Amino acid sequence: MRLGVDIGGTKIAAVVLDATGAERLRRRVEYQRREYGAALELLVGEIAAAEQQAGGRCTVGIGLPGYVDPQTGLLENAFNTPYNKRPLKKDLEAKLGREARFANDANCFALSEAVDGAARGANVVFGAILGTGAGGGIVVGGRVLAGHHGTAGEWGHTPLPLMTKEEYPGPRCTCGRLGCIEQFVSGPAKNRERDAIGEPAAMARYTDRLARAFSTVINILDPDVIVVGGGMSKHDEIYREVPRLLPKYTYHREPRTPIVPATHGDASGVRGAAMLWPAHLPS
Ligand SMILES: [Zn+2]
Repeated sequence: MRLGVDIGGTKIAAVVLDATGAERLRRRVEYQRREYGAALELLVGEIAAAEQQAGGRCTVGIGLPGYVDPQTGLLENAFNTPYNKRPLKKDLEAKLGREARFANDANCFALSEAVDGAARGANVVFGAILGTGAGGGIVVGGRVLAGHHGTAGEWGHTPLPLMTKEEYPGPRCTCGRLGCIEQFVSGPAKNRERDAIGEPAAMARYTDRLARAFSTVINILDPDVIVVGGGMSKHDEIYREVPRLLPKYTYHREPRTPIVPATHGDASGVRGAAMLWPAHLPS
């Protein structure tokens, strides 16, 4: 059995998948901000409780915001969690007495959709989470592409391509830079526009910006499919308008990249975390 844990700023969610990928159980605990030691104990306790409920030992995969720096082993940019800037992987493995696999939550999302979601069967998958932020993850051949620094796919923190005079230099981002894609295609960014210019005009601007943002993904990675999750993914305009606008921006003159909504919704993070381990371990 495979246990997946999704860590957020106020909740820890867990799922246990059996060898067929079916869900054995789901758990969720809300927590108040606490210091690192207590937060580590809470995580260990949730894993133990899930294993007890599932009736056996599981492989452990963890999805969370930010990334584990392969050089230092520290969790970075997980600002809203008590685990930020801490050696969480090392500490958790010491407590569990076994390996735990870690990945960014957007990578987990992309993996879940690639394995048995909207991107099932595709070789190269780009997953974009358009919610309170703009996350991105890459899966190739059924495996997360973490990258040299653990930051592969972090497309939301690159500048919006082809900014107009009105857009330049763009709002200040949570990462400290100006004009990140996240500041134009997240849910809050879209709502700011809507309050200023109304829904239809805001949506038209939004889809054009998203087409520009996806055009660099297509130019560099050329994925077989782009899967969209997060709160914004329910807007049908994304799947209708963005493909129509893409040829204005991509190197390929008639890009055919399918852009599709996610299948598993909010459960993608926790399912993908479980899928960081293969269903059948080599014996
Ligand atoms: Zn940024």
